[in-house]
Amino acid sequence: MTDATMRPAPLVDPFGRAVTYLRVSVTDRCDFRCVYCMAEDMSFLPKAEVLSLEEIDRLCTAFVKLGTRKLRLTGGEPLVRRDIMNLITSLGRHVKAGDLDELTLTTNGSMLFKYAEGLVDAGVKRINVSLDTLDPHKFQAITRWGKFGKVAEGIQAAKNAGLAVKINAVALKGVNDDEFHRMVEWCGERGFDLTFIEVMPLGDLGDVSRLDQYIPLTQVRAELETRWTLEDTDYRTGGPARYVRVKETGCRVGFITPLTHNFCESCNRVRLTCTGTLYMCLGQEDAADLRTPLRLSDDNGLLIDAVRAAIQRKPKGHDFIIDRNRHGAAVSRHMSVTGG
Ligand code: SAM
Ligand code: SF4
Repeated sequence: MTDATMRPAPLVDPFGRAVTYLRVSVTDRCDFRCVYCMAEDMSFLPKAEVLSLEEIDRLCTAFVKLGTRKLRLTGGEPLVRRDIMNLITSLGRHVKAGDLDELTLTTNGSMLFKYAEGLVDAGVKRINVSLDTLDPHKFQAITRWGKFGKVAEGIQAAKNAGLAVKINAVALKGVNDDEFHRMVEWCGERGFDLTFIEVMPLGDLGDVSRLDQYIPLTQVRAELETRWTLEDTDYRTGGPARYVRVKETGCRVGFITPLTHNFCESCNRVRLTCTGTLYMCLGQEDAADLRTPLRLSDDNGLLIDAVRAAIQRKPKGHDFIIDRNRHGAAVSRHMSVTGG
C-alpha cells in the first residue's frame, strides 16, 4: 500500500512504464473471418476454458484497483458474446465512480444496430469500428462472412446514439489501396476519426502471405498528402497511433505503424485473453496464467501477486518484421486471441 492514499501500489514495469491500460478479449469467436486475421476453418476454444463474465468482471475490477484507467473490450467480436451487455453495464460502474477514465470497445460493427444505445447507457463514450473498405463486394471478400449494409447501419446507430466513432482500417496491398482518399472523405463527412493500421504478422493464415498484404503506412501517408493537407498534432488516445488533422475535413487520421515505427517505448498496456491469460506484449509469446489464482481463492491476494509478477516480465518491445525472408507469423496466435 502507498501511505498517501492507502491504495495498492500502481503497476510499473522494469522499464519504468506505468501499466494503466488493459485490453480484454472477451471471446475468441467471431461472426466474420477477415482474411488477415483468421483462417476460414478456425477452431475455437472449448467453452469450459473461457472465463465467465463474472470472472472477467472480477479480473478487470482487480486491475482498476491496481491503477488501470482505461479498459478496452475486444475479441474476437466482443458483441457476439452472450449477455455481453451485462458485463459492459457492470464495468460501467467504475467509470461512473470516477475510478476509470474510459471504458471502450473495438468491434466489427455487425451488432451495433442492436447495442449502440445500451453502450451509451453503460457509460461508453467512444468506440472503434473496424472497416477496411466502403465497397460491399470487397467487404465481403475481406471479411468472408460480413455484410456491409449491416455494419453501415450499425455505425449510423452508434452515431445517432451519441457515440464518438473511430474507424480502423488495415492497409491491404491490392485490396483497399485505391480507397484511402475516399475513406478520408467518407469519415470526414460523418465526423469520424480514421486510423490506418499496418498488417501485423500474427497467426498462421494458411496459404495467405503477409508480404502480399503489407503496405508500409509511410506510403499511405505520402499518397494522402497528394490530395489532403495533413497537419501534425500531438493528440493521443492512450494508444500507439500518431495523428494528423486533415485540414479540409477537420477530422483526424491516425497511423499505427508497428512495423515501420516501433512505439514500444511508450507502451502502457497489457492484454488479457478470454481464458485469463495475460500477455504483456502483443508481439511476444510470454504470458501469465491469471485464471488459476483467480479460481483458487475468492480473495484477490493470489491474483494480485500473479499480476505484479507478470508486469515484472513485461518485455522492452516486440520484434515484428515482414520482409522477403520473414513473411510468416512472428507469433503463432491470431489477433483474435489477444484482440486488437
Ligand atoms: N472483431 C473486432 C474488430 O474486428 O474490430 C475486434 C477484434 S479485431 C482482432 C481488432 C482489430 O485488429 C481490428 O481492427 C482488425 O482489423 C485488427 N487486426 C486483425 N488482425 C490483424 C493483423 N494481422 N494485423 C493488423 N491488424 C489486425
Ligand atoms: Fe473477427 Fe475482428 Fe478478426 Fe475480423 S478482425 S475476423 S471481425 S476478430
